[in-house]
Amino acid sequence: MTKLFSLIEKLEKEKSLSLEEYQYLIENANEEAAAVLAEKADKTRRAIYGNTVFIRGLIEVSNFCKNDCLYCGIRRSNKKCERYRLTKDEILECCDEGYSLGFRTFVLQGGEDAFFSDDRLCDIVKSIKQNHPDCAVTLSLGERSEESYRKLRLAGADRYLLRHETADEAHYAKLHPEEMRFENRMNCLKNLRKLGFQTGCGFMVGSPFQTTQMIAKDLKFIEEFKPDMCGIGPFVPHRETPFADKKGGSAELTCYLLSVIRLIHPPVLLPATTALGTIDGNGREKGILAGANVVMPNLSPSSVRKKYELYNNKLSDGDESAQSKENLSKRIKKIGYEIVTARGDVYNG
Ligand code: SAM
Repeated sequence: MTKLFSLIEKLEKEKSLSLEEYQYLIENANEEAAAVLAEKADKTRRAIYGNTVFIRGLIEVSNFCKNDCLYCGIRRSNKKCERYRLTKDEILECCDEGYSLGFRTFVLQGGEDAFFSDDRLCDIVKSIKQNHPDCAVTLSLGERSEESYRKLRLAGADRYLLRHETADEAHYAKLHPEEMRFENRMNCLKNLRKLGFQTGCGFMVGSPFQTTQMIAKDLKFIEEFKPDMCGIGPFVPHRETPFADKKGGSAELTCYLLSVIRLIHPPVLLPATTALGTIDGNGREKGILAGANVVMPNLSPSSVRKKYELYNNKLSDGDESAQSKENLSKRIKKIGYEIVTARGDVYNG
């Protein structure tokens, strides 16, 4: 057996490789290895979650952001971004609509917008939980203080998604302005975990300046942190950012890494992301076949969807919209999986 395939066997058995081994796995990726990894990832996922795919209704609550991440289309320096924020009533209406469509998790995502103070957010989270006690609420609102996360958790939020973006500190500094600190992001993740959130990290595949060594570090971080959720999707440039002319990430490497992550941490909730669906018409299906078990259709009011443009041509309608759930279900069924109406919590034995 070649070194590559014996590393894949080792990963499946031990759920751990050294940094050098992860790097080798990435640098020597090929179609055959991708197929073997996907088969093992699929078997691993089926042993825990069967053929079910969980859906989350994604509500993009605000595109105001105080941050200036160099890759992101809603960064504060993008003066061409038409800003909006949803009212509490609009958010609750999205949840009501999502509930009748069969969603049992609502993800509130947005830029870091001070308007969404702890009090406002806690009030919204409590109302969602009151209206739909059988649903989970996931927040994805960036870096906040430990105290703020504690209040949100006490208000009833169940999960929090905060991509670490890169596990390499020097790389982090190339993707973010000076005032954003790697250490702070990592501390936020630790705090979220400590407070009892189902916690999600993640990174962009093919982000500017990313090397295979850095991806190896991301994998090591995932191996050690054991996130409940992990969002990985290709970097896609946005025309109004300093990275407008940078190359985007590939669907192939994203799917390859989805399989690797499934083998590293079998119970992880792993979305086939919108970015993957944006760069490849069959991205959702490819992601699921590679080991992903979550999809997050867009449940935001249609009037604002185009404004939450993180990258060029970001999908938000058609089969990306929550309203097309039936169509999405059919597509997923075709490849042997089934969308279910369930909260879809992480499996913890
Ligand atoms: N503000 C929150 C945060 O920082 O976690 C949530 C919103 S943020 C826009 C959500 C994610 O979008 C980021 O974690 C980043 O990985 C991803 N993203 C931003 N710009 C992107 C781009 N150009 N291509 C792909 N993904 C991107």
